[in-house]
Amino acid sequence: MPTDLFRRRLIKGFACIGAGAAVLPCCLSHASYAAGTGAKFALKEVADGVYAFGGVNELMTDANQGAICNVGLVVGDEAAAAVDSGGSMVEARAFLAAIKEVTDKPVRYLVNTHMHPDHIFGNAAFRDIGATIVGHRNLPRALAARGDFYLQSYHRQIGDALMQGIEIVPPTQTVDDRLELDLGGRKLELRAWKAAHTDNDLTAYDPATRTFFAGDLVFMGHLPTLDGSLLGWMRQLDELAAIDAAVTVPGHGPVPSAWPQALEDERRYFEVLAGDLRKAIADGVPLDKAVQTAGLGERGNWALFDDYNGRNATAAYAELEWE
Ligand SMILES: [Zn+2]
Repeated sequence: MPTDLFRRRLIKGFACIGAGAAVLPCCLSHASYAAGTGAKFALKEVADGVYAFGGVNELMTDANQGAICNVGLVVGDEAAAAVDSGGSMVEARAFLAAIKEVTDKPVRYLVNTHMHPDHIFGNAAFRDIGATIVGHRNLPRALAARGDFYLQSYHRQIGDALMQGIEIVPPTQTVDDRLELDLGGRKLELRAWKAAHTDNDLTAYDPATRTFFAGDLVFMGHLPTLDGSLLGWMRQLDELAAIDAAVTVPGHGPVPSAWPQALEDERRYFEVLAGDLRKAIADGVPLDKAVQTAGLGERGNWALFDDYNGRNATAAYAELEWE
């Protein structure tokens, strides 16, 4: 079992894979975009001057052009900031073209919410237009450690054509704790979090519209993927819930979603998973047995559960064993 899990992890890399939640109109349009039917990459205005594209809930593939995560845009009087660059250069270029249709302001910043390929594989397109790429203080180190592996493993998964032009481009400005980006008459508040989904989670909050770009600290409809710390993620749920947002753009899930209700499903999943694992550890059940049943009560509530619950349980067992 551990061998299988490890192999799956190698094959699939560490992407936060979006699975099919509710079939929403936005997802249908993205599926069309992804399938190359000629449909355009369309940004939805989720609040005044705030836009988002909802990624299709699938694994990254050549067919969906890697467009599986949600990306966003905040437009000020002088400049705009994009949130995540998408899972390929094809997607990033479509994103930039869609930005031009909603604003003539320059994209001064690209905010990377974390290291995963579906969120950062389009970075080079933003670097090339002169955007400052902003990330968590741990992001440069994470990309240095994981970048080559991402390029190799995703080459196998999405193929030559879609890999074209993809580079691992680290941030040129990092956030230790908090940072405000000035867009002219509008400030975007960035916040670096402790280890949770990854060790480099960064969020963006627009106080003017109370819109919260949560990155992969919020998964909806499809199973959260754990590449950081389960306990860290659980500990920060209350801090997240306290953010005075009206709506969120989650890393994966409906765009936009009500806040803080968006946290409810993942909180419940984490509690079930941690509860099952704590009991197994207390009962002396070894890892390879424990991960086969931990969290199973949540199976019906999530898409891609079978793909990722075992990996989450394996990571969480090791963490909880030393609690
Ligand atoms: Zn992720």
